[in-house]
Amino acid sequence: MQRIDHPLPWSHLGTERSLSVFRFGSGSRKVYIQASLHADELPGMRTAWELKKRLVELESQGQLRGIIELVPVANPIGLDQHLQGSHLGRFELGSGKNFNRAFHELGGPVGELIGTRLGADAQSNIALIRQAMGQVLDQLPAPVSSLEALHRLLLRHACDADITLDLHCDFEAVIHLYALPQHWPQWQSLAARLKAGVALLCEDSGGSSFDESCSSPWLRLAKAFPQAAIPPANLATTLELGSMGDTRVVQAQANCEAILGFFAEQGFIDGDWPSAPSDCCEGMPFEGTQYLFAPHHGVVSFLREAGEWVETGDALFEVVDPLSDRVSTVCAGTSGVLFALDRGRYTQPGIWQAKVAGRDAIRAGKLIND
Ligand SMILES: [Zn+2]
Repeated sequence: MQRIDHPLPWSHLGTERSLSVFRFGSGSRKVYIQASLHADELPGMRTAWELKKRLVELESQGQLRGIIELVPVANPIGLDQHLQGSHLGRFELGSGKNFNRAFHELGGPVGELIGTRLGADAQSNIALIRQAMGQVLDQLPAPVSSLEALHRLLLRHACDADITLDLHCDFEAVIHLYALPQHWPQWQSLAARLKAGVALLCEDSGGSSFDESCSSPWLRLAKAFPQAAIPPANLATTLELGSMGDTRVVQAQANCEAILGFFAEQGFIDGDWPSAPSDCCEGMPFEGTQYLFAPHHGVVSFLREAGEWVETGDALFEVVDPLSDRVSTVCAGTSGVLFALDRGRYTQPGIWQAKVAGRDAIRAGKLIND
């Protein structure tokens, strides 16, 4: 195992932060895994530590067949954001920016740099594009903030990977993942191993999140240079490992073994591993996800659990205003998987309370919430 510590610039006077990358194995193929980019989403960090221990073992046994890079603490900035006992790890406090939005778009600049050299050979295109992605990032002007520097470092490590996992969680949720529709057939084994409840699939959710900044440039390049053979060569996903509180040892160990089994199936680890269960959740268009909101302020009582299948018209939650005695029941507007619930129980209009993944597209434009 090799440990690489990148100092982050722009720390406050008298302080210093760094980003630590743990690299295992060697070879031409690469897996990249990061955890807790939203710094208060900790199931991923706990799972990453299980992965770290297992990868140390597997490396010492000579079982690794490629490079696996692991970043168990992807956001040291957000880890430090506590306000009166609450950890606020989703947005940078100073700027209000979501830590997992607005990653650098590589497709355009890479196309300008090497587009004319792309040809009929997919393998040489992959090598050329990966090298150019690194070059584009290395040649950007110096970052103007710690957050910008962090984003660049994370993307620099992931942009030349074959597989990229970005480990997150939702407030109260069943395990689910976000990915490109083109990659869903390859993800089904991982989804089945993790007993995921649903996969949300789209080419562009509108937020330039980390996983899309790794996977989408390949689609953009393929569209821009239709004469060239450009496969979607970075299999990247945002993997939501359930609820905020899902850091129990057995859960982390189960997540870890599921992920390692998937890597083994992809040829990164030797040895005997269990095959994926035959049961797998559905991949749904992310355009089919309904966000449900309260019609007025009040206290929320959920009537269903995350992970359940719900039908159109099923009551999902009740909102009670104890001053006016107004009670509203909010029902599903689509049939599908109720995959996430909000954590807070006092609500107001404009804050999503529940998310239902349906089979039919009901939305367009920006699909991701902030
Ligand atoms: Zn997140």
